[in-house]
Amino acid sequence: MTGPSRQSKGARSLCYLCGEMGATSKDHLPPKLFLPSIPGSNPQRLTLKVHVDCNNRYSADEEYLRDLIAPEAGFFAMPSAGPIGNAADRALARPQGRARRSKMLSNSVSMEVRDSRSGEVRLARGVTPDATRVNNVGRKIARGIIFHDTRCFVSEERVFVHQFPGHAVEDLKKIGRKIGDPYWDALLQDNCLHTNYADDVAVRRLYTLEGIEPILLRANMAIMLMTQFFCISADFTPDDEQFATLANRGMVLANPRHMVRSDDR
Ligand SMILES: [Zn+2]
Repeated sequence: MTGPSRQSKGARSLCYLCGEMGATSKDHLPPKLFLPSIPGSNPQRLTLKVHVDCNNRYSADEEYLRDLIAPEAGFFAMPSAGPIGNAADRALARPQGRARRSKMLSNSVSMEVRDSRSGEVRLARGVTPDATRVNNVGRKIARGIIFHDTRCFVSEERVFVHQFPGHAVEDLKKIGRKIGDPYWDALLQDNCLHTNYADDVAVRRLYTLEGIEPILLRANMAIMLMTQFFCISADFTPDDEQFATLANRGMVLANPRHMVRSDDR
């Protein structure tokens, strides 16, 4: 036999991280580091095809973010804190982990933190996060979610990401609403796609049509990863077939900035 039927299944698989064919390895989203399997739980992670090398480029940043948020999640007694914290403790007890921890703590300061529920004030070490590394993780998750939803490859440089501490979200929403920020306009619509992967791991996103020739779509996305919150916007161009599929599934809305609000009528 000749032609495509001879290709292995992997050879026909697109890697969502580089956009090339030949992906044979599996990646899980949200990453297992943030959504571990624990007895009695059955996390519904997405499984996407990747090249091993492409995926490995993110391992160190994912570990970094896990080490960063595990103590915070524990402090605020978040639902996933236990398993994430145990995994972080085990990793940090190894020689490489000890080096990571001392590097992370080298720029830390002692600070008082008030528990918002109990009102109790406790001492903690405050670390200034490396925003580039943290954002790399958010960007990767966003590209995977978009690929899963739309089958469209999104190049890294078309994804704009800002991360905030989770407790700032309500204020961000309020301010965004007040100033008519298109990001929040989009995400606060009822028809957003919303997936809860765990009680404290969730993704909300909306796809809007930004341009016709060529078709340009924008994904507005919010990723909640325990104590981290990512605001993400990404632009990408589907081919005609991909766009038709998305439109038929009702997944693409006209740009909300061009829509008439019910209270404007
Ligand atoms: Zn790849």
